[in-house]
Amino acid sequence: MSTLPDTTLQRADLRLDPEWIIPIQPAGLTLQQHSVLIRDGRIVALLPRADAETLWRADVVQALPGQLLMPGLVNLHCHAAMSLMRGLADDLPLMTWLQQHIWPAEGRHVSDAFVYDGSLLACAEMLRAGVTCFNDMYFFPEATARAARAVGMRAAIGLIVMDFPTPYASDPEDYLAKGLAMRDAMRDSSSDDGLLSFCMAPHAPYTVGNKSFERIVTLAEELELPIHLHLHETTEEIATSLQQHGLRPLARMQSLGVLGPRLIAVHAVHLTPQEIDLLARHGASVAHCPSSNLKLASGFAPVAAMLEAGVNLGLGTDGAASNNRLDLLGEMRTASLLAKAVANRADALPAHATLHAATLAGARALGLESEIGSIEVGKAADLIAIDLSPDGHQPALRPLYQPASQLVYAAGREHVSHVWVAGQALMQARDLLPGAFSDLNSRVDLWQNRLVAEFD
Ligand SMILES: [Zn+2]
Repeated sequence: MSTLPDTTLQRADLRLDPEWIIPIQPAGLTLQQHSVLIRDGRIVALLPRADAETLWRADVVQALPGQLLMPGLVNLHCHAAMSLMRGLADDLPLMTWLQQHIWPAEGRHVSDAFVYDGSLLACAEMLRAGVTCFNDMYFFPEATARAARAVGMRAAIGLIVMDFPTPYASDPEDYLAKGLAMRDAMRDSSSDDGLLSFCMAPHAPYTVGNKSFERIVTLAEELELPIHLHLHETTEEIATSLQQHGLRPLARMQSLGVLGPRLIAVHAVHLTPQEIDLLARHGASVAHCPSSNLKLASGFAPVAAMLEAGVNLGLGTDGAASNNRLDLLGEMRTASLLAKAVANRADALPAHATLHAATLAGARALGLESEIGSIEVGKAADLIAIDLSPDGHQPALRPLYQPASQLVYAAGREHVSHVWVAGQALMQARDLLPGAFSDLNSRVDLWQNRLVAEFD
């Protein structure tokens, strides 16, 4: 009970009182009986509950008994709109899946409306799984940007580039011109909420030529953007590169200036020890997508070796057509288990390191580490609560010895209870704010009917 007069109290909009807090930074820490205070969308204090009660006056105090508060998850690799192709073509290897199923379907159906509806569907699924920020690569990126903005999610929108024509663009110059115009339009918009950032997004070494890569590197430097690229996903990709360029893809990217701290290498499954060192020495990031790599039989990424070498490793879901869940909480568990099996070491990718990969490492890859990824004063209040409460309804989460372990190895996305982005509540007690999602189900049905008609 405070005896101080009100004028000496510091003011906040919101105080969150969870059972546990995992701030991610400092590493390995789990706090109990602490509170987070939020003002104007930013974290203004993280301190013991007793101090929060005596030193701060919050307009709203939200008790979160039995719940764990942590930074929102960062999905470092996604094709959000592909959620409309979830389950369309399963049990196929990457190139068959792409060339015979996904690319033909995209050629006939992908449009601004398709991408907007697919991205909204993905946002709904991701929010319910605790994802507050996603890094996207897809056609009609302005539609994904509009969907993220309508929902209030944070997103890094890719300026996609390929050397061949699609319904979105005719050639590399056209892709780049459209991407740059999209970025300008979203930044100039009166509804700019500061939640969107951008990446150069050349699709892959096998779909983008040297000339395009050189232009992309120049633009990335000028505009200070990350380069989001599928790289070393399959052995076939590497064999083709050796045939066509006489170089493995990573060596080719190095010769073109793509390899550096801006690079987000997606998948990075097949790497020699020298290539792991190369990624680490150049400060590159990797977006590890374990479920997609398993489902497309692409292989097993050397996660423990990358982390030991110092590679910044985040986690991604990839698109729903190759996963089929946009469930980053699930990816945490898969990544941790798989890393142990691949390294033949049970201590590979332990729980706290997995949580770091799913939050701060992703933020760092996107150049957003001073904004999100940990619960620290000054950062945006992108937060999630996970219900670990001992109320008898969750036998799968009882007993509870170590909250971090419980979260990574036992909890699922169904236990995410609350989501805030920049202090705005987007999900409360598992209810999403309805606004942007009204009528979405009927539009998804329409898209399903169109795609089914195509393939029957
Ligand atoms: Zn992908």
